[in-house]
Amino acid sequence: MTKRDYYEILEVTRTASGDEIKRSYRKLAVKHHPDKNPGDHTAEDKFKEIGAAYEILMDAEKRAAYDRYGHAAFAQGGAGPRGGAGGGMHDPFDIFREVFGANGGGNGGGGGIFEQFFGGGAAQPQSRDGKQRGSDLRYDMQIRLEEAAFGCDKEIEVSKLEGCSACSGTGADKGSKAVPCRDCGGRGQVITSRGFFQVSQTCPRCRGTGQVIEHPCRKCNGEGRAETPTRIKLKIPAGIEDGSRLRSVRNGEAGLRGGPPGDLYVVIHIKEHEVFEREDSNLFCEVPVAFSIATLGGELNVPTLEGQAQLKIPAGTQSGTAFKLRGKGIPSLNSSSRGDLIVRVIVEVPSKLNADQRAKLAEFAELMGDENSPMNRSFLEKAKDFFR
Ligand SMILES: [Zn+2]
Ligand SMILES: [Zn+2]
Repeated sequence: MTKRDYYEILEVTRTASGDEIKRSYRKLAVKHHPDKNPGDHTAEDKFKEIGAAYEILMDAEKRAAYDRYGHAAFAQGGAGPRGGAGGGMHDPFDIFREVFGANGGGNGGGGGIFEQFFGGGAAQPQSRDGKQRGSDLRYDMQIRLEEAAFGCDKEIEVSKLEGCSACSGTGADKGSKAVPCRDCGGRGQVITSRGFFQVSQTCPRCRGTGQVIEHPCRKCNGEGRAETPTRIKLKIPAGIEDGSRLRSVRNGEAGLRGGPPGDLYVVIHIKEHEVFEREDSNLFCEVPVAFSIATLGGELNVPTLEGQAQLKIPAGTQSGTAFKLRGKGIPSLNSSSRGDLIVRVIVEVPSKLNADQRAKLAEFAELMGDENSPMNRSFLEKAKDFFR
């Protein structure tokens, strides 16, 4: 299988700017998105191909390497050292943002663009030399609302199959190599008789690859990979929504016998906040206000994601009135805009009064009569039929 030119795949010229590449990528990704082409495997392949090309061309360093060496720049074994033995530290990986999530109108529904890659999926093809792509992994991460709002750097530890350090992922002991399998003569299939039938089945010795390693690596038993605790750095973008998925490229399970690694998908769960509720990019909260302040008007301390702020409320503020603090909501994932904070004030009725306070309030009630109570009056108007 020959690999197509990345520029050709993304339908851009070799001198295209990053923006041009991004635009073309989004257009093509939407067009070939598997959700839009259910059951169409060429669309799915195309979609993956577009993603792979974009991953390289959007990264200045990788793009330069590709321009110079072509696909060979990313060939197996050509890549840099993988962390070394026992939980090496990976470079901070590019996170592939959910570019399709929030798209203005509608609630977006959390994107879900990568969902089809989880579980299920077609079995990974195994090549003749026994190389096999590693599985994709899923990691569920809880973050706080503040972290979702402003973005954050995270480091996670996952125990996953990593390339074996003793045999550099080949599965072969030092000086040993892969030789044709004796049981199947290198065909990968063996014929067995079952009564009248002859059944061809995958050779159990070489698992269909037709090759076995003379002396398997003693550390990994010839698998080429071993369970290793690995630390991975992640950059969570500001404005991310609950349920979003981030892809950390090549941070999934190592491939079998030096096959390419899978990807790691990080699913974001935003913890419920004690004070704020989020809806898209807006925040909502309720703030109690003393009866006297609501009546006379005044300043109120209200919480925001960045700490306390002052809110001026007018005299005669009714319980349940909402005030908007512009730009104090959640930053948008895809633009520089920011949502609002809606503060709903709840008037508190004093429940414990001392004798003096009680007397004063009684005096106040007497002074008021029923006169100055607009809400009550309109209510009485509407309900008058019931009070006859
Ligand atoms: Zn065999
Ligand atoms: Zn090994």
